[in-house]
Amino acid sequence: MAGIMIHRGSSQIGGCCTEISTGESRILIDFGANLPGTDETAETKDSEMVSKVFGESRKSAVLFTHYHGDHYGLFKKIPEDIPMYIGSLAKDILRILVPYLDREEKEKGLPAVERMSTYKAGKWITPVPGIQVRPLYVDHSALDAYMFCIKVSGKTILFTGDFREHGIVGQENRLERVLNAYVPGPVDVLITEGTMLGRTGEIGNVLVRSEQELGVEAGKLFQQHKYNFVLVSSTNLDSIMEFYHHTPRRLRFVCDLYQALIMITAMRDMERKGSFSQYQPSKQHPVVWVLGKPDSRWAMLRKIGDSMKNPLWFRSVTDEELKRDGFVLLARKNTYPEIYLSPFEALRDKFFDGDGQIIYSMWNGYLKGDHADKDLLRFIGGHPYQVLHTSGHAYVETIAKVIKLANPKTIIPMHTQRPEDFASVPEFAPYHDRVKVIRDGVWLPLDI
Ligand SMILES: [Zn+2]
Repeated sequence: MAGIMIHRGSSQIGGCCTEISTGESRILIDFGANLPGTDETAETKDSEMVSKVFGESRKSAVLFTHYHGDHYGLFKKIPEDIPMYIGSLAKDILRILVPYLDREEKEKGLPAVERMSTYKAGKWITPVPGIQVRPLYVDHSALDAYMFCIKVSGKTILFTGDFREHGIVGQENRLERVLNAYVPGPVDVLITEGTMLGRTGEIGNVLVRSEQELGVEAGKLFQQHKYNFVLVSSTNLDSIMEFYHHTPRRLRFVCDLYQALIMITAMRDMERKGSFSQYQPSKQHPVVWVLGKPDSRWAMLRKIGDSMKNPLWFRSVTDEELKRDGFVLLARKNTYPEIYLSPFEALRDKFFDGDGQIIYSMWNGYLKGDHADKDLLRFIGGHPYQVLHTSGHAYVETIAKVIKLANPKTIIPMHTQRPEDFASVPEFAPYHDRVKVIRDGVWLPLDI
């Protein structure tokens, strides 16, 4: 019989894997790693996931919603004969990201990335017999993220994955337009993320409400100091583009080669998709200044930059130029302090005291408590810092909007620490009797 099972992620954020099955064949949505620092205490450890999920022989395919580690992170462990699917830009970004993450790892993930097939927004695919999936392009802090509309045994399931609508892709009411255009007929089951239900305390002083607001506030902060160090995830491209466009004309916009490659790969893809002006090169900053000396890897960077309708140029920059003109620098933590000397830390040490500031643009949970990240804290090094970050996840009113549009018979929350609180959220009150909380590993037949 057809059914749904959340293998992991029903009552935690991260490490997700959800099965949708006809009884004979099945798709697995995401195969993520536990969030950093949580594997030890998790109900199911990463090392247990392969035997738990793949310890049987039904025909399977894995579909990734997006490239965040808590959704794709265990991809190397997926048996080679199981097909994997992801968005095409997400795959291109993994081609850059995975070798970077793997530089000190024995097991290299690039061959597995190359094995991934790509799906297209709005186009139905049949990954296994009896299950059709239509990927829906949505806004999230990972670019190229998808919801899935799934047809199985005469039922329609809408699986949100991680989403929001306050970033660049969410503009112009895209979420509503996509759901109206691409979800045919009534939805039987909505499986929705609920990350922000347990993080409502973050909204207020810490968060700006949208990526656009983040850009405006960043512009104001950049006016106040000459040397700006921005700690931001290298794949949080909406925020990166906002920082780029709001860099004052007199300052240089600076990053390293790895970051420049991710940025131009996304910009080229968004140019092809059209209509996202924030992903186009800025007339004010037609040059991105790149740390280090040009080498053979710069050829790819320059080739893509030159091929843009409005070309984006990449040039190397000297410490003297940085000192003279000032900068907005996209910085990253150093995960291997024993082996590497981080260029970002070197620049921080050189320039911070002469009118520098650190702008922290990541989840504040990484700064203290269970998820405290020692590498990020080392970069901040006790200096004062400004927090400027907007959530990658849907606010309560955005989830309520999806519920209203999809009007599902059953609502299953996941990707939240508080699934049992879902039904009592005031915005969800009209639907509280449709909410069904299921636990990891529990089979829910689809004849509900
Ligand atoms: Zn995500």
